Amino acid sequence: MRYEGAIYRPPSEARSLIIQLTIGCARNTCTFCSMFKDKKFRIRPLEDVIEDLETAREYYKNVKVRRVFLADGDALIVKTEDLLCIINKINELFPEVERISAYGAPADVLGKTVDELKQLRQAGLEMVYMGAESGDDEVLTRIKKGVTAEEIIKAGQKLKKSGIITSVTFISGLGGSERLNEHALNTAYVINKMNPEYVGFLTLMLESGTELYEQVRRGEFRLLELDDIITELKVLIENIDSPGTVFRSNHASNYVPLKGTFNEDRDEMLKDLREVMESGSYKPEKFRGL
Ligand code: SF4
Repeated sequence: MRYEGAIYRPPSEARSLIIQLTIGCARNTCTFCSMFKDKKFRIRPLEDVIEDLETAREYYKNVKVRRVFLADGDALIVKTEDLLCIINKINELFPEVERISAYGAPADVLGKTVDELKQLRQAGLEMVYMGAESGDDEVLTRIKKGVTAEEIIKAGQKLKKSGIITSVTFISGLGGSERLNEHALNTAYVINKMNPEYVGFLTLMLESGTELYEQVRRGEFRLLELDDIITELKVLIENIDSPGTVFRSNHASNYVPLKGTFNEDRDEMLKDLREVMESGSYKPEKFRGL
């Protein structure tokens, strides 16, 4: 197996075999993101990926590979016929595999038909992680996400129609204090329209070298205070109406670890949030991470 540069994967893929279908991120414009800034985007040749899979099988000949994660930033940009070829190869080499998943940018999901997505699902692509970041168009423009809230909704609905499990990520604090309400309310709206299986709500942490970090340094963008972060989370939770969606804000970056299933756990989550506010038992800054 050959890996190029730093490899990123969702926390739930910690035990997965990771295979790079692409190198970097095709867009690479988001102002808060530092993940692939040092990589020039390209799609890897199919034969190189297949060679990596064969090497992995040899390496893990006595290990059952239950999960495979397709990296880097947006594996769904790869042509459907090539993706099918890779997924079929994974099934052939790792008959024990239980889950194949990938990152999928909203624009790449929109670039595929529902029929193509269904073919991918039937072949074995079980789950797609989609970074939406915000449901507010103004925030999406400011962070240079390159898609609108409506496009994110359409992408989520397409995945749902195809039967692919969707895990969507949003980021607390991206609207700053200026658009706190819009960020929370419009994010809830987008979630309600998509009704995804999973929602992850991370908290903004900035690394030096990113455009947003420089905006903060120059005083052009103000990071949220802790109280504002809690208010934003409260507004979001109060406005989500998405039965069955598993909600998690228990990432290393979050101050308040919350987890529950909508709509039945909404009151419980709000109660937990109130208790944390009253007791002030937030995760200390030094224990936060990306
Ligand atoms: S957040 Fe996602 S789409 Fe945006 S630059 Fe980073 S990897 Fe690319």
